[in-house]
Amino acid sequence: MIGLISATAAGAAARDRLAAAWPERTRVYEGHVGDAVRAAFAECEQLVCFLATGAVVRLIAPLLGGKASDPGVVCVDEAGRFAVSLVGGHGGGANELAVAVGELLGAEPVVTTATDAVGLPGLDTLGLPVEGDVAGVSRALLDGEPVALDREVPWPLPPLPVAARGPYTVRVTDRAVEPGEREVVLRPPSLVVGVGASGGVPVEEVLGLVEGALRDAGLSVRSVSCLATVDAKAGEPGLVAAAGRLGVPLVTYSAGELAAVDVPNPSAAPLAAVGTPSVAEAAALVGGGELLVPKRKSERADGQPAMATCAVVRRPGRGRLAVVGLGPGARDLLTPRAKAELRRASVLVGLDQYVDQIRDLLRPGTRILQSGLGAEEERARTAVAEARRGHAVALIGSGDAGVYAMASPALAEASDDIDVVGVPGVTAALAAGAVLGAPLGHDHVSISLSDLHTPWEVIERRVRAAAEADLVVTFYNPRSRGRDWQLPEALAILAGHREPTTPVGVVRNASRPDESSRLTTLAGLDPATVDMMTVVTVGNTATREIAGRMVTPRGYRWQETREDPK
Ligand code: SAH
Repeated sequence: MIGLISATAAGAAARDRLAAAWPERTRVYEGHVGDAVRAAFAECEQLVCFLATGAVVRLIAPLLGGKASDPGVVCVDEAGRFAVSLVGGHGGGANELAVAVGELLGAEPVVTTATDAVGLPGLDTLGLPVEGDVAGVSRALLDGEPVALDREVPWPLPPLPVAARGPYTVRVTDRAVEPGEREVVLRPPSLVVGVGASGGVPVEEVLGLVEGALRDAGLSVRSVSCLATVDAKAGEPGLVAAAGRLGVPLVTYSAGELAAVDVPNPSAAPLAAVGTPSVAEAAALVGGGELLVPKRKSERADGQPAMATCAVVRRPGRGRLAVVGLGPGARDLLTPRAKAELRRASVLVGLDQYVDQIRDLLRPGTRILQSGLGAEEERARTAVAEARRGHAVALIGSGDAGVYAMASPALAEASDDIDVVGVPGVTAALAAGAVLGAPLGHDHVSISLSDLHTPWEVIERRVRAAAEADLVVTFYNPRSRGRDWQLPEALAILAGHREPTTPVGVVRNASRPDESSRLTTLAGLDPATVDMMTVVTVGNTATREIAGRMVTPRGYRWQETREDPK
């Protein structure tokens, strides 16, 4: 029995919704709140309190006996935004109850027991239709019980802390199977139904044909991602209505696109009517995939000629590669979007030191493929290969992942059979600029002094060009143990075009706990104080030190007149 206690009108309304949904399992405790909580605590296995957590903590504190015997207690806030598992998360079933109450009231379950410290994705929040024992499998995931993942169809999913086998199963399939006991079935949108139609086809004829084709092939209608046809039929009312009834879009292609698709059953009729030898099969196969149901025609009770054709294809699972910049180091310089992508990925690829930087943000079950310095090409290849297997992959890099980092080697490997998203990050030049003042207030350039991948002649030519163009220059990879002469040479080139007093900012470990920075000059910089954790920003001929900060004016007129041009 679940005891329900509320104090306010909003609480009572939410309480009544629970009571109505679970009439057999709930009992409403009215009257004085303290007495109600005490009575429910004594009489029920579980409590849902529509009260502040503080109030409930004070009320139940004297009643607590031990986690084996105490009831599970869930608190729901006044606005109904959260269902908090307060005590008895496992033994009292409060975690599971919080999930169930959350589902019913549209509140977010808040569960703080260890297995869920970093948050499991709710099975009903994955964006896929879900069937079966959602509450039971969710509870098993929350409690860290073995849950097996059975991926019949490759589909990019967030990490689930799954075991090789377990009493519970999450099954990803587009086949029309009934979920078994202790099983949840997720329906990926993996099926494309191509449809052809004569003008005026009734919606029932289309639906009957599509549903029959799926049924005969043992496929679930909930995995249909779209109906696909030829442009000329984009406005055909029977098709538009059928797509609407199935809750999927009607996607169309030009006759030329369809004519180019190789199909097993071309015919003359559509060629004459709309200019392609196949509509249903070709439209289903445009994006590639496996033809599960070849073209079939509708059957009409009146014996008249069929007005619709359809074909069903299982499209190849598209993996997802997110190339994520982590920023320079500080947690609050990691963007919310980057955080979301890290939690969405089931596979994380990156340099070990960057993985350490964000490990606490990862969801349990995330597969981490980390490697040491140097193995860049291999990391890029690994990330792309995992995405091509249909996984959701995050490839991470410090700063911005596109700046002297993993994005380009990865995208050089990637083919168009995976989705790629980039998440920008705060690159070292910007992080350092903010520490120094405003050194990048006018045109500026970044130059890497690493001649590992670039011949020194090329680097030198670019430094010279920057010197001649009077650009502010930020040097990345400025100096390492085995590479110490490049920075002095580069500075000498700049010194040929700038005063010895030109400000130079040196920032080491920007935004990290051991951040340090120095403002010096072209003549005063000691290269020995620079290492690979450092960027060096050299001002242009207008850059000044003002109140200990490095400032590059936005316009040269300002420098002459000392007036802000606005
Ligand atoms: N993708 C990174 C750059 C990688 S190249 C970015 O966008 O920032 C590596 C070089 O970046 C280092 O040698 C150093 O010069 C610079 N760098 C990266 N992070 C830094 C930080 N927090 N502080 C100072 N320099 C940094």
